[in-house]
Formats: sequence, C-alpha cells, structure tokens
Amino acid sequence: MVKRASPLEIYKFLDKSNCKECGLETCMAFSTDLLERNKKLSDCPHLQRPKQAKNLRKLIEITTPPQKPVEFGVGERLCTIGGEEVIYRHSLTFYNEMAIAITLDDNAEDLIDTVKYLTGIVISRLGDDLKLNAIALKCVSKDAECFKNAAKTVVENSDIPVILCSFNPEILLAAAAEIKNKKPLLYAVTKESWEKIGSFAFDEDLPVVCFSNDINELISISASLQKMGVREIVLDPGTFFGEGDVSDTFDNIIQLRLAGINSGDENSGWPIMGVPAALWKDIKVKNEKDLWKFQYKEMIRACIMAAIDTSLIICHTGKKKEDIWALLAILTFRQNVFSDPRVYPAIDPGLEQIGEPGEDAPIFCTTNYRMTVYPVREDIKSANIDAYLLSVDTGGIGVESAVAGGQYSSTAIAEAIEEYKPFEKVKHRIIVIPGMGARLSGAVEDDANCVCIVGPRDSSGIPDFMKKRWDPAKDMAEFAER
Ligand code: SF4
Repeated sequence: MVKRASPLEIYKFLDKSNCKECGLETCMAFSTDLLERNKKLSDCPHLQRPKQAKNLRKLIEITTPPQKPVEFGVGERLCTIGGEEVIYRHSLTFYNEMAIAITLDDNAEDLIDTVKYLTGIVISRLGDDLKLNAIALKCVSKDAECFKNAAKTVVENSDIPVILCSFNPEILLAAAAEIKNKKPLLYAVTKESWEKIGSFAFDEDLPVVCFSNDINELISISASLQKMGVREIVLDPGTFFGEGDVSDTFDNIIQLRLAGINSGDENSGWPIMGVPAALWKDIKVKNEKDLWKFQYKEMIRACIMAAIDTSLIICHTGKKKEDIWALLAILTFRQNVFSDPRVYPAIDPGLEQIGEPGEDAPIFCTTNYRMTVYPVREDIKSANIDAYLLSVDTGGIGVESAVAGGQYSSTAIAEAIEEYKPFEKVKHRIIVIPGMGARLSGAVEDDANCVCIVGPRDSSGIPDFMKKRWDPAKDMAEFAER
C-alpha cells in the first residue's frame, strides 16, 4: 500500500514560525489537520509565498492521496469524489462518500419539474441530511442545440452539479462551453475523442470521464490525458448486465482501485465510476411486474457498487416521485458504508427540548448513543409529543449494553439529573427510563429522589405509553404519600 506521510514529515516542509495565521496554535497542529483534511495547503499563507514554492511542491506531492480527488459542480453542492487512501474503510476511513447521480433525458418534457424535484430531495436519517449529488444529463435527442439548451435549463433551475453525457464530442463540447462556469463533469472521453475533449478540458480546467470496456485501453486514455495536462479524471470501465458479465463489472472496479491505491499506479489513481442505469439500455418493460424486477436489479447493482467503494454511480430509477423507495435504499446504504469508523457514534449528553413542553411534559431519559437518541427524538417528534429528552453520558454505548456494563446506572442517571436539572423545567419529579433499563427503576427513585416510570422497550411505543400510562398528577400524589 502507498505509505501515508506522517505529521512530522509534513512539518519538515512548513514555515515553523507558529504564526497562527491558519487559525491553529502551531505548525505541528496544522500538519495533523492537513493529514486529516481539516485544513488545506492554501490555509497557510506562508506557503503561498514565492520563496516557499519548493516546499509547497513537496507538500503537494506527499499529501496527495494515491487515488486523487476530483471535484465537479460549484458552490455549496460542489461534489468531491475519490481521494481515498485505503481499499477497506476499516483500515483508516473513506473521506468522500460515493456520489449518486440520476439520469435525465435532454428532450424530457418535464425536465424543469424533475430537476427541481431531484434537487430538493432530503432524507433526514440519524442526524444526517441525505441528498443526491448530481444530475446526469443524457443527450438522447442527438441534437447539439437541444442538449445545450437542456444543460442551460438544468443549471438555471438548480445548483446541483451536472454530468454532461454524450459520446459525440461536438455535441458534448457545445453544451460544456455553455455551462463551463458551473464546472460540469464531461462524460465521456474515448479512444476516438480523447484529443479533442482533452484539449478543451485542459483549456477550461474541467473534469472528464474516460470510458472503455477494455481496462488497458482505459489506462492508456488516462495516461494520454494526463500528458496533455488534464487535471481531473474519472475512470469508467463499463457496467455489464449480460449473463456472466456481472462479475467483470466488479472485478474491473476492484482491479483499478487496487492498482491506484495499493500499487500507486498514477494512471489508475483516479475515482472509479459505475453506471447501474446501463441496465435499461436494451430492455423492454412489458408490465408493472417487469418494471419492479428491473428497478430492483438496478438498485442491487447500485448497492454493490457502494459496498466496493465506487466513487460515483449513475442511476435511472428515482426520478419519479413513486420511486422514492429506491433512493431511500441507496442513500441509506451509502450512509452506512461511508460513515467514519473512527468517530464513536455518540452525541453530547444533556437535556434537549422537543416541541413546546409545558409543566406537565414528560422527561424521557436515554443514553448518549447516537443511534438511540436520533430514533427516540424522531419518534417523539413524529407523534407530536412535547417533551424533554435527557441523554446520560454512557460513552456512546446503547441502553442494553450500558445497563449491562454499568454505564447506564441509577448513579449515572441521578448525576445527569443533578447536572442538567430537568425537574426545574416542569412541576413534577418524574423520569421515564427505557424498558430495557427496567431493573434500575427502584434505585433511580432512591438516588434521584423522584418517580421513575419504566417506559416502552422501543421508542416507537412512546405514543401508546403517553396515552395509557402518562398521568403526572396521579404519580406525584402517590410520591407525596411515600
Ligand atoms: Fe504554521 Fe502556516 Fe499555520 Fe503559520 S499559518 S502556524 S506558518 S502552518
């Protein structure tokens, strides 16, 4: 595997003045943040001075990952793909999640509506807003004017990055020239068109996709483009659906990743893409059952591509509102595959207000495990319950394990009550703990001097619990008689 630079190796080429102009206390801290990609070389003004040019070149060389990153689009939704240093996420982390693009035909009648719909899709899950990354505009009209106008329409109606798709270089470049200030990704350069598109991409500093079903040919196109000075390249080794061809698709992606990341081959060291949408090229949908069968097939292919860290995929399914299930599947799967394994899934412990809780509002108490807090919060919110949510510091461990391990104990709950003072917000002293912590209830009442009610085992049972069990006046009356 290509060796990663250490903070000390980076430090050697920095100014070492500790001037703090980068916002950090020391140059050593900058080295560490640079390595973790929290800072860029451009954040150190000293490195931009002419006399530091040699050091800057060296730093670019030692900090560029073996799979170089590619950016397309501009502004807030700029999309970065590739830039990975490892084959397996658990070896370090993946820095850029797989980008998902949906195809649109340049002559589609509902182009504007679909562009706006796809741009606005946001699925909130476990604290993240899951979105699509790009629109892949296909030239099906075979007409340069139509394609160019469609490209213009897309960027006028959306800030989502665009991939321009045509194998005809004249048509592709006419549209690219029209929207070049939006930094589209140009799909695709072939062995026939590399000179023409490469020269345009070099002049306009635009990223391109090389396409070939033959890996050796693909690498050769990549090498030629680099010699021309093209700075950002994506590799598409083809997506096959025929019998016996499926494994070739995945083998090619993995071979290219291994060559780029593990062997440091410069021509393979670029983001790799796949096109699950290729499934639809030669098929005829006869009925609804057929449609579902092909949609499932496409989404399974998309998920497998995410699982092997493909940098970008283009899908066909998902542009219609009734196909939202497909996007939910691939966006959720991507979130799981690309989450950072080094970040413990914890949130800051504390007291959170949900809705507009009054004096009789319930106080639910859970751990600070992210995967617990978010579903509990969502279940309370979606049931329109006004409440408080108290998260106890269990080091990010979920309820069941934290009860067993002692992190979610009567003492920890009492300390959280003492620190975050939930009872000062209401006129009762009742805490609701999860069903999985039932055995702690007596001790919690003693340690925190309160009523401890055992709630449902699963937060989806909270609405039912509120209807059948929540009666603070009754519980407090009994508490007063103790
Ligand atoms: Fe060091 Fe540059 Fe940061 Fe100054 S701005 S502390 S020289 S890294």
